[in-house]
Amino acid sequence: MIRKLPLEKGNVPGAVRNLLRLLLALDDVDAVMAPLRTPGARMIMPGMVSDPERIEAIDPVSPCFPLNAAQLLSKLARKPTGAFLVACLRPCEIRAAIERAKLHQGSLEEVILVGMDCGGAFSNRDYQTFSGTVSGDPAEAFCQAIQADELRFPEGLSLASACQACTAFTPDAADIALGTFAWESGFLPVEARTEKGRRFLERLHLENAGMEVCEKRNVVVSDIRDRRIAFRDAMFEKTRAAVDSPEKLAAYFSNCVLCTNCRVACPICYCRECVFMTDVFDHEPLQYRNWSRKSGAIRLPRDVLFFHLTRLVHMSTGCVGCGQCSNACPNDIGVTELFCTIAAGSQQAFGYFSGRSIDEPPPMTVFETSEFPEVVG
Ligand code: SF4
Ligand code: SF4
Ligand code: SF4
Repeated sequence: MIRKLPLEKGNVPGAVRNLLRLLLALDDVDAVMAPLRTPGARMIMPGMVSDPERIEAIDPVSPCFPLNAAQLLSKLARKPTGAFLVACLRPCEIRAAIERAKLHQGSLEEVILVGMDCGGAFSNRDYQTFSGTVSGDPAEAFCQAIQADELRFPEGLSLASACQACTAFTPDAADIALGTFAWESGFLPVEARTEKGRRFLERLHLENAGMEVCEKRNVVVSDIRDRRIAFRDAMFEKTRAAVDSPEKLAAYFSNCVLCTNCRVACPICYCRECVFMTDVFDHEPLQYRNWSRKSGAIRLPRDVLFFHLTRLVHMSTGCVGCGQCSNACPNDIGVTELFCTIAAGSQQAFGYFSGRSIDEPPPMTVFETSEFPEVVG
């Protein structure tokens, strides 16, 4: 089911806000979760809106992505409330929310996932530079640059590498998907992609869309996807070459201070109690002396590679490539590049694509009697 959302003068954020207004007006919906402008804040933060008057503060297409909101959504949807919450999220946040629901970190029963085509985002630091250098509204400037196919930013700024390499930037896993890249049509196509999405979209009384609306969007999507595939493949190749021996892998993480920010920011690191936060790695003082005596000198903190490898083993089949691990890293380590490269291999090996569908069980939760004979014999 595809419907038309009116688009006035190419104002994509305004059209998205109108869709959210329509959904909030339904009697069984009582709030919208979406990126929100808040007084005094330099960043656009996730927020919850219940008053239709406050929908205007929602900034749905800004290139600001301070955190993956799937973690917050898990908290908001931890228990039933008796009414639906509309969650307007980026495609990688929707996929993370679906992965988390499969792992019983929040439920999507009372959530309507609304997604839209995603132009990408800057790192937190770069967004602040970008928003300080553009004249006028940063979201509008970004939207116009995408529409003119002129993603040129002030010197030294580029979109986060996760976004430049992201090929899953359309909201395929949403309940209601908005084709924001169809700006030339005078309408945006709104598609119900699940039964729940269909139930709600039907009630908005929008006009049916003709296929030509989607065809225009498909051309834009295909152009962007080609560029991103090229970037992603080059990134994979460079990263593989950078870590193809234990020595190189150690060098890759040589600036890691083990602050664990990358773990905290990751929406897929789902363990309520991470083993690295327990005393398992609280070695005895004498142990450090022994290591030092044996090697002559040791690097501190210890267990850096063990930390990253443990994380990879736990979550690479669920990584959604959102880039928040690099965004949170104080030392500019290419965490996303490495995790996305490994994740692509492990998800391909299991024929799994994280967050694609709520009905697909995560590979590590399924026991197969015969699997990978080349490894297990
Ligand atoms: S990783 Fe993809 S979906 Fe997520 S913000 Fe970047 S472009 Fe958008
Ligand atoms: S490992 Fe990094 S890119 Fe992958 S889901 Fe976690 S934060 Fe996102
Ligand atoms: S955020 Fe960076 S420095 Fe901190 S643990 Fe992760 S890789 Fe290491």
